[in-house]
Amino acid sequence: MSDVEPSLHIASNTEAWWRFFISIKSMPESHHKTNQTQDLWPNRRNFLHLLGLTVLEILSPPWLLQAQQRKRKINNTIMNKQPITLFLCGDVMTGRGIDQILPYPVDPEIYESYVKDARDYIKLAEQLNGAIAKPVDFTYIWGDALAELEQRAPDVRIINLETAVTTSNNYWPKGINYRMHPKNIPCLKAAAIDCCVLANNHVLDWGQAGLEETLATLTKAGIKYAGAGRTLDEAQAPAILTLPGKGRVVVFSFGAESSGIGHNWRAKDDQPGVNLLPDLSHSTVHAIADQVQHVKKTGDIVVASIHWGGNWGYKIDHNQRRFAHALVDAAAIDIVHGHSSHHVKGIEVYKDHPIIYGCGDFLTDYEGISGYEQYRDDLGLMYFPTLDPTSGQLLHFEMTPTRLKHLRVNYASRNEAQWLMDVLNREGKPFNTRVALSEDNRLVLHFSNN
Ligand SMILES: [Zn+2]
Repeated sequence: MSDVEPSLHIASNTEAWWRFFISIKSMPESHHKTNQTQDLWPNRRNFLHLLGLTVLEILSPPWLLQAQQRKRKINNTIMNKQPITLFLCGDVMTGRGIDQILPYPVDPEIYESYVKDARDYIKLAEQLNGAIAKPVDFTYIWGDALAELEQRAPDVRIINLETAVTTSNNYWPKGINYRMHPKNIPCLKAAAIDCCVLANNHVLDWGQAGLEETLATLTKAGIKYAGAGRTLDEAQAPAILTLPGKGRVVVFSFGAESSGIGHNWRAKDDQPGVNLLPDLSHSTVHAIADQVQHVKKTGDIVVASIHWGGNWGYKIDHNQRRFAHALVDAAAIDIVHGHSSHHVKGIEVYKDHPIIYGCGDFLTDYEGISGYEQYRDDLGLMYFPTLDPTSGQLLHFEMTPTRLKHLRVNYASRNEAQWLMDVLNREGKPFNTRVALSEDNRLVLHFSNN
């Protein structure tokens, strides 16, 4: 076809010019003030881009114009994708004391140095904060988180499930073993959890039989998982969450030995186990890049969920930071979801991609355990990053402060939220991130790119 008039294409650019002017006009005043360089540069780039396109179209032959028109159509399809909001949190440990308050607890016998009965963890929590009427229903443990999830309506809900889901008695001799009865799996359904990451230091607490029952129970419940499997291939495979009309979220789950995962838990071709990172080297990044390349399509958000580092302490290992940057630079990862620390750690935004180094605990039975009060591991965060699926870039990032009390998640008080704000601001300093506490007790992340 050669009957396309240049004037038609100039007309098709008119809409783009119109959108450009509207975007400048509709930019909120506060954006100009808080994020001036960040927000104005794209507009300058858009202006130059549009100007170039218009000049080119006036001078171009018809065949080139048709090709450009096709390309623009594809770009517009991608550009029209709506932002995707994730719900992420840290450790969700529904075993031991939590399992014992749910309707179908496993045998309470445990094999710790001092504690031999899982119900003692309920007693410890009750001694601190008062009696809990047992059994509770499946929604109880999520407490205020359910209302928050309903209100925020994230597109996907991803947790680090820090327990096996099994009745296996084949405990691994490691001192601490978490398990939840498979009949209690409706507690994860009660919060509509879409995906559990499993590459952590508890999923094999009850042996390979315990792991296999965990995987089978999640599958039967329709909950996706990543990071553990019956074979290496399965352990490495990402969970793919399809969002009708919006695209996909692809979740890779990795574990590091620094979180306490033994090297003998590594999945092999013929051995069930977890997706254990050999190290945080460049060659590991390249291997991950290969895996991402096989699955990532335009418009996908790719999450690297990593169980790494110790339980206590704010310091971020420079190898972790280098690895997280390399995942963004070389492996097309859009967001790094780090966990293992029992308390929240600093957040970085690297080239518009969020890196959460440690989410902290979210739902556990540690309420009555003393010794680390200065870290306030009873305080947690519900992380709600919103990303642009076209570019994978962070658009907005809010967090809801929570407090674990009565073995359930509760909204944090104003003072507790301020305490978390101070921690994130102190720990975010090296990364140029800070948070502000809103009137309604949510933390909003402000950042400049590193
Ligand atoms: Zn852990």
